[in-house]
Amino acid sequence: EKVLLSVENLKRHFEIGHGETLKAVDGISFDIVRGETFGLVGESGCGKSTAGRTILGLYNKTEGNVLFEGRSVHEMTDKERKVYLKKVQMIFQDPYASLNPRSTVLEIIAEPMEVHKLYKSKEALKNKVYELLEDVGLNRDHANRYPHEFSGGQRQRIGIARALALDPEFIIADEPISALDVSVQAQVVKLLQRLQKEKGLTYLFIAHDLSMVKYISDRIGVMYLGHMVELTTSKQLYENPLHPYTKALLSAIPIPDPDIEESRQRILLQGELPSPINPPSGCVFRTRCASAMSICTEEKPAWKEQVSGHFVACHLYK
Ligand code: SF4
Ligand code: MG
Repeated sequence: EKVLLSVENLKRHFEIGHGETLKAVDGISFDIVRGETFGLVGESGCGKSTAGRTILGLYNKTEGNVLFEGRSVHEMTDKERKVYLKKVQMIFQDPYASLNPRSTVLEIIAEPMEVHKLYKSKEALKNKVYELLEDVGLNRDHANRYPHEFSGGQRQRIGIARALALDPEFIIADEPISALDVSVQAQVVKLLQRLQKEKGLTYLFIAHDLSMVKYISDRIGVMYLGHMVELTTSKQLYENPLHPYTKALLSAIPIPDPDIEESRQRILLQGELPSPINPPSGCVFRTRCASAMSICTEEKPAWKEQVSGHFVACHLYK
């Protein structure tokens, strides 16, 4: 097992005027091992996309560290950064918004390779694009068409082909299936899994709920209001969740069997998601937690390893 990426007490705050600070990411720590899929899960506004962008280096960090292969992402020389931005690629939630509507599929996929001057001849570049299209389940006949001619699932495949163009090692997928029909989601997840095997990729897979992330992730980190509240293997998280927020997220996953669905206990979250500008004192989850105690208002729960590899931040566990 080799650590590819280390995130150490990472904070990313935004000054938003009037002396106020939005604490989008407020001290998260985790490692990603080479070849694994790490799922990062939480409701919208929990900071998971900001975490992804800060890891990619699109955002400066406020505090902490992001180490890729032992090198600090935010302290790289221009040359190191260029290499990093080849090794790390991003797949976005809305493939339509991330693909230039006036470019052909060929141009869209070829662009990163042209920027990095990877191929001397137009012919070799074209052939690489055809290869990439086949890798993602499309073909060369699609190369001269435009994004609007494709379905959502096909557009996501084009986005994936583009992300693969520079032979990356690590892919940050920011809700890559959230905008797709349920029937298409499984296909894209399968594609990502096949590509991971074939190309030895490592994934950071960002999702807003726990329904699909289970099938793709080796380990999962649950975020709430800029904090990581629980982290463990995918199996352990579904079978033995510890944090009250994780339990609520799990109970929100619909089960297709009506008998099970009826007998199941839903844990409904109380109230609204508080603002990351004015987060609650103590435990950030306490305003919505049915188990909250007086200590939860006073003390921020420490990030502790309960059993090997299973971390949780909650006063219920000593
Ligand atoms: Fe609930 Fe307290 Fe645990 Fe926070 S620390 S999740 S408020 S029990
Ligand atoms: Mg997001």
